[in-house]
Amino acid sequence: MGDNSSMAKIPSRHLAGLVIMIERIGGECAAGRGKVIVEQTGEKDPTYDDVASLADDPRTFDVALSKAGADLPAGRIVKLRLALQLFGPDTPVCEQCGDLGIDIVGKAALVRSAGQACPGCGKFLVASGAESPYPAWTTGRTVPSVIEADFDTVPGDTIYLSEKSVRRHYAVDAGLDALLGAEGVLAREFLLWLVHGPEKRRFVVDSRLALDVLENPLPAAREQNVLRNWVGAAKAFKYAPAEPASASAAPVTQKPPMVFKSTHGQGQLIQLFQELFSAREIQMFIHEISPSLVGSLPDISVGTSTYAFEAGVTLERNGVVNRVFFPRLLSHRPDRRADIEVVANTYGFTI
Ligand SMILES: [Zn+2]
Repeated sequence: MGDNSSMAKIPSRHLAGLVIMIERIGGECAAGRGKVIVEQTGEKDPTYDDVASLADDPRTFDVALSKAGADLPAGRIVKLRLALQLFGPDTPVCEQCGDLGIDIVGKAALVRSAGQACPGCGKFLVASGAESPYPAWTTGRTVPSVIEADFDTVPGDTIYLSEKSVRRHYAVDAGLDALLGAEGVLAREFLLWLVHGPEKRRFVVDSRLALDVLENPLPAAREQNVLRNWVGAAKAFKYAPAEPASASAAPVTQKPPMVFKSTHGQGQLIQLFQELFSAREIQMFIHEISPSLVGSLPDISVGTSTYAFEAGVTLERNGVVNRVFFPRLLSHRPDRRADIEVVANTYGFTI
């Protein structure tokens, strides 16, 4: 992944900390002005870059301060500019008072790390980074910000949870990534919606398949609208999760009740459908092998990728992917025997 973290929208916990820090470093003339000073970025949801640019140029910053009605002494202005320039995604936050771990003493900038004393309240340690406890996308349960991965949901497999580790270990599809950025939805929030959102019965799946969607959601450009709808739904879910995260910040220890069982084969089957057929052909094939299921699938206008996705999930869930399934598939595409055999083998069948 490229380092675009400074382009990220500032999470609310960090934004609140920024206001507290501005008022601490700005002193009495900045009292109660922190929020208005941040608003001088001109952005409703500022990024780290926006904050840094505000403080980049001394004259711009002076204008911003006077617009915000904060008449600071010159020395305080210098300190505040420096502090704003040091502020970034990794700046630690105090669990106790919410202040940020940046302190300017004399001409020295003291950037605290997690575990050191908070420059705001002094007594308490500065804890982790910008992330508050957050819902693990695999289980929906709230985990402390220091938890990076889930080792329990799939025994023997490590599933990454935090935004940082999701982005480090999984590839986010470029088209999806652009939409997520535009809507301010994190990749882990998108995954959470896939697995736990109200439409999970249409899309879901297990964590492996959710990752398939993250990495390669919709190859066809004409399906960007579907993708846009998904991201919009994930955004709505982010603000009003159907299953609110539990208050106890217990690490992930239990298997989630809502995740459907699935096999690695499901992802392969979906891909096979996408490669072999159009949406209409998939529909005709399902009509041939299990007509009653056609009604539970969306209209073919959703496009081949989405239709293949939902067909794969629905067929497997209804036990249609059985011994006779693959020979029927092969009869439609005899030239693709090798590809069909691979997927059949994953399901334990030979044809
Ligand atoms: Zn503190």
